[in-house]
Amino acid sequence: MAIKRKTRQELDKMRAAGRVVHKVLKHCREACKPGVTTREIDESAYEVFTAEGAQGLFKNYPSYKPGEGFPANLCISVNEVVVHGIADDYKIQDGDIVGFDCGVKLNGWCGDSATTVMVGNVAPEVRKLCETTEAILMAAIENIKPGRKWSQVARIMQNIAEREGYGVVRDFVGHGIGQTMHEDPKVPNFVSRDLLMNDIELREGIVLAIEPMCNLGTEKVRTLADGWTVKTIDNKPAAHYEHTVAVTADGAEVLTDGN
Ligand code: MG
Ligand code: MG
Repeated sequence: MAIKRKTRQELDKMRAAGRVVHKVLKHCREACKPGVTTREIDESAYEVFTAEGAQGLFKNYPSYKPGEGFPANLCISVNEVVVHGIADDYKIQDGDIVGFDCGVKLNGWCGDSATTVMVGNVAPEVRKLCETTEAILMAAIENIKPGRKWSQVARIMQNIAEREGYGVVRDFVGHGIGQTMHEDPKVPNFVSRDLLMNDIELREGIVLAIEPMCNLGTEKVRTLADGWTVKTIDNKPAAHYEHTVAVTADGAEVLTDGN
């Protein structure tokens, strides 16, 4: 496993890409209102990152099926869709939770971030799912220190989720990121024997896209016949938050916070 470490100059370029991603997600949050279709938000998001000179990383992302790359600009995942939802004519409704995931490349460097927007009167247990999943992302960031192992951070993330009885998705994980969106290592939100045997030592300059996914019910998910959309098998809602995060000399620096 070859983990590339980034220089300060490279981190600054990634932060510039991250700033565009942040702007796109801010746009999505403002546009995400009852009656608006997910396709309308997907198309307006394209205009936002294109105006910044960035390229979207998701459109045409290759599938194992030849000629069937990802068909939209963002991943927009409503309610029981965990990740990789495809924008369509669905009109957002009061009470929905809508995950927006955006990745762009700017001047050769990538940024990747996701948020889940709560629309209007969201059921209290679903609101708590979203708030807790975001808190898990923040706890991960706060617990990153050079010299620690990723499994120590993943254990904290998993514990917070499981304390609430949430399913921690096993089939999808975070990832290293740099000049391409998906680099080594894989960054799970849970501890496994595989992680403990191939643990990641956190070192200055490593950049990770950390992306907890929590389900209100079972951790089990399935991919629909479109080859992309990932849903919970019990159709209970799921929340997803993500930041691109650099390990620094004394902690972590979030590259997709808009600063
Ligand atoms: Mg993402
Ligand atoms: Mg990602």
